[in-house]
Amino acid sequence: MRGHAVVTGGAGFVGSHLCDRLLARGMRVTCVDNLCTGTTGNIAHLTGKDFHFVEADVSRGLDVGGPVDLVMHLASPASPRDYDRLPVETLQTGAAGTNHALDLAEVTGARFVLASTSEVYGDPREHPQRESYWGNVNPVGPRSVYDEAKRYAEALTAAYRRTRGVNTGIARIFNTYGPRMRPGDGRAIPTFIKQILTGEPVTVAGAGTQTRSLCYVDDTVDGLLALADSDFPGPVNLGNPHELQIRHLVGEIQRLAGTTVPVRSIPAPVDDPQRRCPDIAVAQRELGWQPRVELHEGLRRTLEWFAAHLSLV
Ligand code: NAD
Ligand code: UDP
Repeated sequence: MRGHAVVTGGAGFVGSHLCDRLLARGMRVTCVDNLCTGTTGNIAHLTGKDFHFVEADVSRGLDVGGPVDLVMHLASPASPRDYDRLPVETLQTGAAGTNHALDLAEVTGARFVLASTSEVYGDPREHPQRESYWGNVNPVGPRSVYDEAKRYAEALTAAYRRTRGVNTGIARIFNTYGPRMRPGDGRAIPTFIKQILTGEPVTVAGAGTQTRSLCYVDDTVDGLLALADSDFPGPVNLGNPHELQIRHLVGEIQRLAGTTVPVRSIPAPVDDPQRRCPDIAVAQRELGWQPRVELHEGLRRTLEWFAAHLSLV
């Protein structure tokens, strides 16, 4: 795709990598972000390119002039620590923010892609998770501000497609990691890497037997671009089916870092999903997409980035 892309949440972790890739394709990129969890440091290197940053809260409106060919809607706190800190804002971003992003796609005729999440499956009762699974979400628990915001965002996106003819696509992104995650965002990989690099005890929640399936950011961005290029409505899982227990993730990072630190057990978060693994048959069939970067290689690149940036971020 060519032309003008609007990326909400473009100063965040995934969004900034997406901006890089859209610019590399020759698109003009407008990034709209209120910096509640993102940083200008993630996009500083884009100054001087065909890139425009607008500091704004998408739940209040999305004022972008001129033609738009693609709206990639990523704005939302994404780490449990962040949405715990910003509960109402997270709901407003998923609801009003998604509404404004869809309105922009409707008036401009742009392709619209929603960054939804595996959290719509809640603490799943089906493994691996297929898109046909409706999920197991506690509607009033602490995670609900994120899970229900994204479920509402999916419902709104589907309604705009059905009733207003907007060309929409829904991506259900599974845990993604890589350079530019905030070391203090509370998510497992940046937390463990920071702890291991600085010699602090590693905080493992509960028994550490809960699983996640970790996808390197370049792969996730490839999937988002493949969805943007298609007319596929989704929802489509984007994730790496390599499932592992959190305690084994700690071991893998320590092995790669060549250092061992003690483990400090912390209480498991309320409603922490116990198993999570994507079925990616739909992405393979409809988008010709599957992840390519193995866990050890992705972790090696991420460790390298954190080692170089830990004192700066
Ligand atoms: P992030 O926190 O690094 O990025 C989110 C960005 O959105 C930040 O720059 C933040 O400032 C911005 N933002 C939040 N609310 C906003 C608002 N109201 N107006 C404007 N900007 C706003 O998180 P991320 O990991 O890069 O996640 C990006 C998107 O991908 C999110 O929608 C998230 O739900 C989704 N996702 C991410 C993962 C993952 O593992 N990283 C997994 C599933 C889904
Ligand atoms: N986790 C952990 N220690 C930490 C941070 C997270 O053991 O310091 C666990 C967390 O309880 C969850 C898993 O790691 O079971 C993944 O957590 P993360 O916040 O990265 O992602 P999410 O829960 O949103 O999938």
